[in-house]
Amino acid sequence: MSRITLVRGIGRLFTADGEALDDAALTIDSGTIEDGAPAGGTIAWVGAESGIDNLLTPDDEVDLGGALVTPGLVDAHTHPVYAGNRFAEIALRSAGASYAEIAAAGGGITSTVTATRAAPTDVLAEGLDRRLRAWLAGGTTTVEAKTGYHLNEPGELADVRLLSEWAGPGREGAGVEVTWLAGHDVGPEWEGDADGYSHEVARWCKAAKAAGARHADVFCDEGYFTVAQSRLMLEAAKAAGLIPRIHADELACTGGAELAGEIGCASADHLLRVDEAGIRALAEGGVVATLAPITALAMGHKPPARRMMEAGVTIALGSDHNPGTCGTTSMSFVVALAVAELGLSVAEALRAATAGGARSLRLADRGRIAPGLRADLVAWDADHEGAFAWSYGLSPLALWLAGRRVSLRS
Ligand SMILES: [Zn+2]
Repeated sequence: MSRITLVRGIGRLFTADGEALDDAALTIDSGTIEDGAPAGGTIAWVGAESGIDNLLTPDDEVDLGGALVTPGLVDAHTHPVYAGNRFAEIALRSAGASYAEIAAAGGGITSTVTATRAAPTDVLAEGLDRRLRAWLAGGTTTVEAKTGYHLNEPGELADVRLLSEWAGPGREGAGVEVTWLAGHDVGPEWEGDADGYSHEVARWCKAAKAAGARHADVFCDEGYFTVAQSRLMLEAAKAAGLIPRIHADELACTGGAELAGEIGCASADHLLRVDEAGIRALAEGGVVATLAPITALAMGHKPPARRMMEAGVTIALGSDHNPGTCGTTSMSFVVALAVAELGLSVAEALRAATAGGARSLRLADRGRIAPGLRADLVAWDADHEGAFAWSYGLSPLALWLAGRRVSLRS
C-alpha cells in the first residue's frame, strides 16, 4: 500500500528546475514495499498551495509554516573512509609549507594510508557511519564517497564493500555513491614506480565493479599520476563498467580536463588551474565541473567558475571532506562559500549543490523537485534561499530521504 503525504505551508520552494515558487505545496508518494525492500518514495505533485483542494485526500499532512524547501543537497566529492588525523600538518601549512612539500616530508595522503591500513574494519565503519549521519543531519541526502587510503588491492576492495553497505536503503545516514579511487596516489609498495602501480590498478577495476563500485576516479596532477597513467586507469575502469571521473588541474595545469573530455568523464574535479583549452574540452565533452570551494580557499587559488559557466559547463559542488584539509560535512556552508569565494549567485550555487551534483553522478532520479523524482527534500530554518549565503551553515528543520521522514535531533 502506498501512502500519500501532503506537505503544505512551503513559503518558498526552490525546485532547481526553473523558477522558485512562493506559497507552494507538494505531495510525496511513499512507495510500496516490494519483497520486503522499500521501493523508494517519489514526489507525486508540486504546485501552488491554493491548488491543493483538487487533490485526493492525503494519508498524512505536514505544515511547514512558511519554510524554504529545496531538493536534498548532493555532496559530489568526498573521501570519508580513513583513520587518524593530520592536525600536525596545519602548523606546517601555517609556516608556509606547500601541499607538495608536506607530501614530500611524509605527510599528506601517505600518512593517512599508514593510519588507515592499521585500523580494523569496525573502526573504519564506525567513522564512516558517524560522518554519513552528520551529512544527513546537515541536509545532504546523497554523498559521493571515494576509497583511496589503502592503495593495495585487498584494502581498496574492502573499502568498496564497506561503502556499498551504505549505498542501499535501510541505513541511518546519507545515501552513498561508491567511487573506486585506488588511483589516489602510488601505493607505498610501488614507491617510485607510478607506471607499474597504474597497470596494477587497471587490473583491479573489474573486481572493484563486482564489489559494488559505480564510479572510478584518479588523481591526475603534478606529483601524482600523469595524463598517460590516468588514461590507462580510466580506460580500464570504463571497460569494467565504471563511470569515470577525475581530479584534474588542481596543483598544476597538466591536461586533466582535456583527458576528461577525451575519455567522457562524468565529472572533472577541482580545476583550480584549468586553462582555456581545458574549459573547451569540458564544455564539448559534457563533463560536469565539480568544484570544492573549501579546498580552493585552503590552496589559495580559485577555479575560473564564471568562465566555465559562460562556456556552458555545468557546475557541481563538493565539500572534499578528507582527513588532511577539510573535516566539514556541511554542504550549506559549501554553498555559502561558492557564493562568497567563487562568485556564484545563490541560485547558481544551490543548483550546483543539487541538480549539478546529481548530473555529475549520472543520477537522473534526483537533484530537482518535480513529479516522478525521488523525494529527497529538505525544509530549512529560513524563508528564502538567500539565507544560505548569509548564514554560513543553514540548519534543516525537516528532511525526507527517498520519501521517508528522517527525525532530526534538536
Ligand atoms: Zn579529492
